[in-house]
Amino acid sequence: MTASTRILAEFARTARIGPIGCGAALPELVAALGRPFVGDPVDSTSRWPRWFGYGNLQLVVCQCRLVVQVIVPVWHGEIEVPDARTHAMVSHPSEVTYSQFTAALDAVGCDWRRGRDLPGQCTVESEVDGIRTGFVFVTTEGYDEPPLADPVLNKAVSSAFHDCPPLTPDQEGDDFGVA
Ligand SMILES: [Zn+2]
Repeated sequence: MTASTRILAEFARTARIGPIGCGAALPELVAALGRPFVGDPVDSTSRWPRWFGYGNLQLVVCQCRLVVQVIVPVWHGEIEVPDARTHAMVSHPSEVTYSQFTAALDAVGCDWRRGRDLPGQCTVESEVDGIRTGFVFVTTEGYDEPPLADPVLNKAVSSAFHDCPPLTPDQEGDDFGVA
């Protein structure tokens, strides 16, 4: 099992990559990993939720500073994620096929199901504590191409809803919400 296959299978099983995952608080991520890249608001009409980034992990953070979505872009050919021990950002080649990934899910004891197929893609889903994570595989190289013998992972998207706790004064601004 390659490093990226193991990391992504554990992401399916636990909904976490190191400290990163839906429900994590941004100040805790800053304490553990340092400052993230700061992106734009998700919707230009509202300051929150906003995009943040660690490595090539893309996080959507609510104004209450809880992570509500994590996107792992796999199409770049590598994933850049915090190392489990050192929390330094590490790159791993990320070519992962459907058969490799589903075998890895079974190996790590992850409960998974097949999602709804769309033209050109298929999806594997897991759910942990109300956090749903989908792994999207590309099933053809292009519209007129024959199906791939083994679909290739394109991205993973983890999402969860939450009820916001009351905002603290530290959360009124645009920063990380750290006191
Ligand atoms: Zn919230």
